[in-house]
Amino acid sequence: MRHEYLAALGIPVWVQRADATDAAEAVTDDSEASSISSLDDLAAQVSACTRCALHSSRTQTVFGVGSNDADLLIIGEAPGADEDRQGEPFVGRAGQLLIAMLSAVRLARADVYIANILKCRPPNNRDPKPAEAEACTPYLERQIALIEPRVILAVGRIAAQWLLQSDRPIGRLRGTVHSYGTAGIPLVASYHPAYLLRSPLAKAKAWEDLVLVSQILNDPS
Ligand code: URA
Repeated sequence: MRHEYLAALGIPVWVQRADATDAAEAVTDDSEASSISSLDDLAAQVSACTRCALHSSRTQTVFGVGSNDADLLIIGEAPGADEDRQGEPFVGRAGQLLIAMLSAVRLARADVYIANILKCRPPNNRDPKPAEAEACTPYLERQIALIEPRVILAVGRIAAQWLLQSDRPIGRLRGTVHSYGTAGIPLVASYHPAYLLRSPLAKAKAWEDLVLVSQILNDPS
């Protein structure tokens, strides 16, 4: 638990509701993903996944990239057209902005791990359906368990609300540190970089969120 040092930094921690944790565990329990012991094996399982209808329209699955033992795990919503084509998350314009923002806190793409709630692109970039997110969650849960990040950064409303099982708007979820899952991983929610491209004034708040992430990462305890 990192709650003590977050408290020492003066950062309030929101603890996930017990019913939300139970729901996430129920999904994980009924999946084979929870027994897989390496990210490569998990990626192979994901590449063959047919758990929801998105498998029939994808070019390929987009599992995630980065350092397998990254301290920071960034979680977005779902692959877009560029990601579906290239097989990597956040490779389009939004991804370029995300990487530029990370470099401002001295983090490179290779230092972090980047993944999404969904591993397949929803047609026309529509929002993920809850059943799709639920079907994909055992993979993400296993990814998180194998990477063991020190901090999760959820970018965008969809990722933040799904991970926190909350319906609060992203503007209310950001700016504080939440606690994710039974391991109590600190989770910071922020705006999606695609939103920042459309609303540059929100960049100042996204910057504050990244500073919060880097404060947690740089805390030695
Ligand atoms: N938006 C996301 O949420 N994820 C991606 O991988 C690309 C765009």
